[in-house]
Amino acid sequence: MTISVAASESDQRASAPGPGRPALAVDTGRIADLIGQLLVELGEDPAREGLVDTPERVAAWWRAFLSPDDAAAATCFTESQLSGQLVIVGGMSVWSLCEHHLLPMNLQVSAGYVPDGEVVGLSKFGRIAQHFAGRLQVQERFTQQFAEHLTGLIEREDVAVAVRGLHLCMSMRGVRMEDARTTTLHTRGRFASDPVLTQQFLTLAAVQKSTA
Ligand SMILES: [Zn+2]
Repeated sequence: MTISVAASESDQRASAPGPGRPALAVDTGRIADLIGQLLVELGEDPAREGLVDTPERVAAWWRAFLSPDDAAAATCFTESQLSGQLVIVGGMSVWSLCEHHLLPMNLQVSAGYVPDGEVVGLSKFGRIAQHFAGRLQVQERFTQQFAEHLTGLIEREDVAVAVRGLHLCMSMRGVRMEDARTTTLHTRGRFASDPVLTQQFLTLAAVQKSTA
């Protein structure tokens, strides 16, 4: 189940899960050339003092942005006595790029699951967030990808992911609503079928957010 709530009129549209994959190899020389051409088309002189190294800097940033830490390696620990406890990791903040406008979006992420004999290494959650943020994205797909990845990691369906997004494409262009936030929630397994569990997740995730 996915619920999307826009805090204000949003030009974000739900996208089907699909591509959203970063390029495998980034040709920084080629990107620098293209940025230089873009500067010319924008009426700038790429040779002037302030811009002379800009194409290389931008190209290096693209390479770093599209090459986040690998989230594939599983880090799970056996805790055979642990089951039924709700675990929530919140306060995760990552930057991604809106694929509709190529403008940044800041995503505040909370993820929860119910362990059954195994727990996920806590730092893993932040890496998952960075992994799916480091590409052209929409918040709705990011939320779903995070939940699906977590499901694969714990090999169970009982996961929930809530994301609160600040989108510069809403804040600095178009409707220019600086305070608008978009909230997405993806629940699976028990979180999708048990409203009490979902409410517990949302309440605790909100606490983590307000004290972060
Ligand atoms: Zn956008």
